[in-house]
Amino acid sequence: MQVTTTHQVLKTIVLSILIQGTILAVQAQPKDNGGNTSNKDYLLKSNSVPGKDSLDATEEKPVSGGAGSVMAKYGRSNQLYANMVDSLSKVLFRYPLVDSAGLTYAEEWVGTPNMGLRRPNYVIIHHTANNSCDETLREFTRTGGREASAHYVICKDGTVHHMLNDLLRSHHAGESKWGNNTDLNSSSIGIEIVNNGFEAFTDEQISSLAVLLERLKAAYKIPAANFIGHGDIAPTRKGDPSSKFPWKLMSEKGYGHWWDDTTGVQVPDNFDYLMGLRIIGYDISYPASALIAFKRHFMSENNGTMNAAVRKIIFVLYRKFE
Ligand SMILES: [Zn+2]
Repeated sequence: MQVTTTHQVLKTIVLSILIQGTILAVQAQPKDNGGNTSNKDYLLKSNSVPGKDSLDATEEKPVSGGAGSVMAKYGRSNQLYANMVDSLSKVLFRYPLVDSAGLTYAEEWVGTPNMGLRRPNYVIIHHTANNSCDETLREFTRTGGREASAHYVICKDGTVHHMLNDLLRSHHAGESKWGNNTDLNSSSIGIEIVNNGFEAFTDEQISSLAVLLERLKAAYKIPAANFIGHGDIAPTRKGDPSSKFPWKLMSEKGYGHWWDDTTGVQVPDNFDYLMGLRIIGYDISYPASALIAFKRHFMSENNGTMNAAVRKIIFVLYRKFE
């Protein structure tokens, strides 16, 4: 058979799978109204996938709503979420003939079933810099503009809103760097805590956060060192969470590193504190910003003053990140 396009190749493969009655392991939508028929329709439609990760050319599919007031209020956004997931699932069906970057490698493929979804390996903590959960949910459900989001939003009363599947990429970190990782959005869970940046975090927020972090750490085997703040990974642009965030308390629970008593610590004369910050993970392209970020996180201070005490703390800490 003469094959002229990759779409035709894919269509042929999909049809032959269906004819043989093979059950595909990947289930892109719930089997709530037609079992194999809906899967068949779905697979056939996967031949017309959008060329980018977007809502373009997706069809509206009804989303089962809840009776709660939040679901009712954000029904439209939930619908858009479902459409977006539907759009992304179609991208998966193109692979590996054409990958998401649009590159074609071959006219034939050899699929492997030995795979899974990529898992998050970092947790990035934010504060919202506003005063209400409502304001945050409105912002994160708005299309156009900044198109910012987070996986979780924690309200002042401790309510946790889960806005995005952990396995999907949220737009929460922006341009960022930690170690040599330059796309934290792809590898992290973003948690926004409602806080104006000048006030204490509520006890309810901190206890909800602890429960959430415990689940995430266990589910995805995230190392303690990889619980960090937005200000850590974008030191020239961001200052959240503020110096009031209880990093020490969190580290005692296993989320993030902390330093031990520095009494008696002798820092070698040749210790380069910027190299220490770099090993911890900071981008030291702008040394002053990196130092301010470090002091905000590890000393609850808002300044870039360097002295022997700070040097000691960097020295003690960097060895934990080595
Ligand atoms: Zn942030």
